[in-house]
Amino acid sequence: MIVVQLPILLSLLRTAEASTVLQMSAPSAELASLASRLSSVATFALAPVKPPALELLVGVSEQPPTATARQAAPASMKTRENTTQSLRESELATLAGEIEGCRRCERLVAWREQVARERRAAYAGETYWGRPLPGFGDPAARIAVLGLAPAAHGGNRTGRVFTGDRSGDFLFAALWRAALANQPSSLARNDGLALRDAWVLAAVRCAPPANKPTPQERDNCLPFAVRELALLPELRVIVCLGAFAWDAALRLLALAGRPPLRPRPRFGHGVEAAPLIGCFHPSQQNTFTGRLTEPMMDAVFARAQELAEHAPAIGAL
Ligand code: SF4
Repeated sequence: MIVVQLPILLSLLRTAEASTVLQMSAPSAELASLASRLSSVATFALAPVKPPALELLVGVSEQPPTATARQAAPASMKTRENTTQSLRESELATLAGEIEGCRRCERLVAWREQVARERRAAYAGETYWGRPLPGFGDPAARIAVLGLAPAAHGGNRTGRVFTGDRSGDFLFAALWRAALANQPSSLARNDGLALRDAWVLAAVRCAPPANKPTPQERDNCLPFAVRELALLPELRVIVCLGAFAWDAALRLLALAGRPPLRPRPRFGHGVEAAPLIGCFHPSQQNTFTGRLTEPMMDAVFARAQELAEHAPAIGAL
């Protein structure tokens, strides 16, 4: 409903702006009709009235186009971000399915399945995963943690890398202390573990005998890591757990077309060769002997977080 004071309305009728306003919209038509009837009976003289802002008079509800555009932009950008994110998550899921179905390395396929059939006595009642393992974590991760390969009775049993073994206990406790994980343990695929700003993966996706993949098996598998990391657009730092992961990371960067680092950087705990940081592997051999301690691993993740704040995104690998 439109309410307009008569003097103001008649003043408006004397101005070109008013006639324009009165032709603008359906409510304005109602206003024009009312004004026409009133002006035919109004015989008193009017003092000049300064018209208030037009939108106050006619109750214009539309915002200026620029304001509407300013409001609409964040919403549409948000939609685009959400769409991009779900596309990326869908591509990661597709890649995970491809990895899980891989049977390329005959020796590793035979070993992972044999371990899954025979099982360790302590896990005799469990159904082993017995397949390759994709990486997992936060698709918006800035930090990737690259390991060697799944453990025969760890990831190869539980179906998630570094899950269900002592190395994982040490690693995820460190990720939790660094606020990169929501809990300090990683026991099973459905244990509620969620990573934030971190993605964990292995260079070789099948458990190898004696934890030693052959160079050929490594080369067969590395393209999976290249593709997986390329789907993490925010990635800035790769923490390499052990010399094998360090070497694999240098190779995958080369596979992705990056110029080789010269001289080739040697692995060491805390060594940096952007975008890589070296960290001793959290194997029992290292953690039980004190070669790798909690403060040492905490320092690596603190440094990784520091670099993640300033380093450029690695980009499509
Ligand atoms: S190690 Fe990699 S390439 Fe070889 S079978 Fe397993 S998933 Fe496939």
